[in-house]
Amino acid sequence: MAPQMGITIKSRREIKLMLEAGQIVANAKAKLVEAIVPGVSTRDLDAIAEEEIRQRDAIPSFKGYQAGAIVPFPATICASINDEIVHGIPGKRKLKEGDIISIDVGAIYHGLHADSAFTLGVGKVSDEARKLMDATRESLDRGIAKIKDGARIGDISSAVQTYAEGLGYGVVRQYVGHGIGFEMHEEPQVPNYGQPGRGPLIRKGMALAIEPMLNIGGWETKQLEDGWTVATADGTLSAHFEDTIVITEDGPTVTTRMALTA
Ligand code: MG
Ligand code: MG
Repeated sequence: MAPQMGITIKSRREIKLMLEAGQIVANAKAKLVEAIVPGVSTRDLDAIAEEEIRQRDAIPSFKGYQAGAIVPFPATICASINDEIVHGIPGKRKLKEGDIISIDVGAIYHGLHADSAFTLGVGKVSDEARKLMDATRESLDRGIAKIKDGARIGDISSAVQTYAEGLGYGVVRQYVGHGIGFEMHEEPQVPNYGQPGRGPLIRKGMALAIEPMLNIGGWETKQLEDGWTVATADGTLSAHFEDTIVITEDGPTVTTRMALTA
């Protein structure tokens, strides 16, 4: 098959390192989940994630990441609360009972990346918040289920969009999933909206980060004054789930969830 512009096919060794990077991130997520309680600050959560990643000889991917922003991202995690969608900067702000928090975290291990996100309720949350989080996680799983050698990126996009919009949620369009490997953001883009059978071909050796962001209201976003945080334009709650998946000889493998040990 002809190579596709900008899309890298990972070697066996690279895939192995991506699986390890993924487990480091999965572990950091587990530590974060334990620590998310009313009264904890997002800065405290950031410190927990950074320590966990560095302890395993990995590097936090987001710290110092600049892309097109005015200032480099200053932390290991993105912590986005309630109507914040992505890219929230950790700080003194303390979590309150009933908040929902989206945490995005990435690590680089021997040059290879893993990128993952989840949204969790702080203590007891409203039914509408619970349903939003469940739907966002389910939309990610439905996207992942479409990954196979020979499928198209649009198959993933369409599965996420159809499910989420069917429940009445707004699907964020301005931020999308992506290829991943030696760079955090590689080709191809993986939008959370689109048509089945369209877009780049999915092949063995590719690695993808799939990351639906669902809003209770509309899909439109706004950038906050800190230059990073993105929130819903209409102030409604937002949730975000992301996993990194590699397509190995044995099929798609999610790198950023805890491996089941015998
Ligand atoms: Mg991410
Ligand atoms: Mg990502």
